[in-house]
Amino acid sequence: ILDVWPARVVVITGASSGIGEATARDIAGRGAAVVLGARRLDRLEKLAAEIRDHGGRATAIPVDVTSRDDMTALVAQAVDEFGRLDVLVSNAGIARLSPIADLDVDAWNAMIDINVRGVLNGLAAAMPVFQRQQRGHFVTTVSTSGLKIVPTQAVYAGTKNAVRTLLEGLRQESTSGWLRTTSVSPGYVRTELADHVDDPQLREQTRKNMAEFAISPEAVARAIAFAIEQPDDVEIGDITIRPTAQG
Ligand code: NDP
Repeated sequence: ILDVWPARVVVITGASSGIGEATARDIAGRGAAVVLGARRLDRLEKLAAEIRDHGGRATAIPVDVTSRDDMTALVAQAVDEFGRLDVLVSNAGIARLSPIADLDVDAWNAMIDINVRGVLNGLAAAMPVFQRQQRGHFVTTVSTSGLKIVPTQAVYAGTKNAVRTLLEGLRQESTSGWLRTTSVSPGYVRTELADHVDDPQLREQTRKNMAEFAISPEAVARAIAFAIEQPDDVEIGDITIRPTAQG
């Protein structure tokens, strides 16, 4: 474990699998204290124990990002246990893909609740701490789906672009030099994301795409760490990271 990491305390949502899990491991290995949030506490606790076994600092708390109270508790846990909060990685998300004409309104609402409202809840929880400290960094996992709109991904892409817009707005409002924002747009990444596609055929197709040429979640974790580890006066605003073979 290194002792040179500038971001001392990092909260990560969606840390129970995929990109969030890899990010927690990566930045804990660079010396940050990590606070892990997601709904599956068993997986979070296992990861926190693994990080601590390797000499790192980690704590876990069950959160549903759609609950403002849960997000307030998550940020409070960082401050209570580690004394501050330097970075919030709002990474939790779902991709319940389907053609718009299927009118899967429940899936649309779930994506809006988790992918958009979840990020806003995190922002609302972290902002007062960042303001108090006069230091903070919002990192979000958006998607290349928002950059190239493809069939079945429109609503998902819409939620990701809402977050991209939100962060750019925040950036415009925060030129006083102490608040950084970063939107990371991954292409296909080998995670559990496709498991939540409702339609079995589309689920298999998405899994197949991932199995064929997706990049590892560790690659995205390194990109997130790169943004975080810059000096305070350097803001990495957008990162696009996709498989070389992705169209
Ligand atoms: P995973 O399905 O592996 O991870 C998603 C994470 O989000 C899990 O830890 C899950 O934890 C958490 N999560 C889902 N719903 C909630 C909720 N209501 N409250 C709290 N946590 C929740 O997929 P990825 O790692 O791929 O996804 C991470 C992010 O990356 C997502 O925002 C996704 O949209 C984005 N992304 C992924 C890409 C890919 O190809 N994999 C491409 C582009 C972007 P739990 O179920 O325990 O709550």
